[in-house]
Amino acid sequence: MALIIDGNKTAAHTKDMVRGRVERLKRDTGIDPGLAVVLVGDDPASKSYVSMKERDCAEVGILSFDHRLPADITQGELEALIDELNADDAVHGILVQMPLPKDLDEERVIERITPAKDVDGFHPANMGGLLRGNDVVHACTPLGVMRLLEDYGIEVEGKNAVVVGRSTIVGKPQALMLLDKNATVTIAHSRTENLADLCKTADILVVAVGRPHMIDASFVKEGATVIDVGINRGEDGLIGDVDFDAVEPIAGAITPVPGGVGPMTRAMLMQNTVDACARRIGYTK
Ligand code: NDP
Repeated sequence: MALIIDGNKTAAHTKDMVRGRVERLKRDTGIDPGLAVVLVGDDPASKSYVSMKERDCAEVGILSFDHRLPADITQGELEALIDELNADDAVHGILVQMPLPKDLDEERVIERITPAKDVDGFHPANMGGLLRGNDVVHACTPLGVMRLLEDYGIEVEGKNAVVVGRSTIVGKPQALMLLDKNATVTIAHSRTENLADLCKTADILVVAVGRPHMIDASFVKEGATVIDVGINRGEDGLIGDVDFDAVEPIAGAITPVPGGVGPMTRAMLMQNTVDACARRIGYTK
């Protein structure tokens, strides 16, 4: 029987801490942390993510500034809005919901955001800072995974960690964050040979692929910690990349889907926003 890593619980605890910090910051400085949320078009999944993020803001006391734009907005118009938000002192974090409609250049939009307000941690300056081990904004999902490991007292130092997936938003920053905590890290991807054997060497296995239930018991070492980042939409709801029922009896600890990494991503966005505000105004408490 594995320890079930409850992301809802750790996310609630993280949001409580953020709420406390927001209250202290407001009391001491009179400043409200603010997050601008930009949604382009009307993709239902993106709309629902944006509403959840706005609800999180209300819950922790962060002001949210809602910008809903039509799908046919031009690159120039979107970048002009980003410029305005960059210059707005009430805005400490800017979140542009991805994916953008296909005519818009996501990379250029990300690069337009002032790195200090890039609370997603996707700007090249923040990604580069992570590589260099600097104190910069870290991407929310891998940061949430690190918080889960910490909260559940799972030792990272000296352990073998395998990260399956090498995307810029999850796999690569995840590997760097584990490395920063002194794990020995291997990154696997679609061209990796003997993936199951490699995964079986992992004390900590993080899977961020986007293939429902691809990780079964044959990929997991007895007692390993298994973190499932995958979110796949099935007929009966969300499905992870890990076959939970098959892996749970072997693993030492495991995250469920839903209720594992997902809630942590949103909680870390709130933390990144209050941190961005505190840095901006030089508030160190
Ligand atoms: P990407 O599609 O950008 O990356 C997927 C990665 O998986 C790629 O590196 C790819 O390899 C690798 N891959 C694909 N097939 C295989 C395979 N058969 N064996 C090994 N590796 C493979 O996805 P993301 O990183 O954006 O997302 C991954 C998953 O995490 C998705 O399910 C997504 O929904 C979820 N997610 C969840 C979040 C959360 O909050 N919980 C946040 C963000 C994402 P290659 O590079 O060689 O193509």
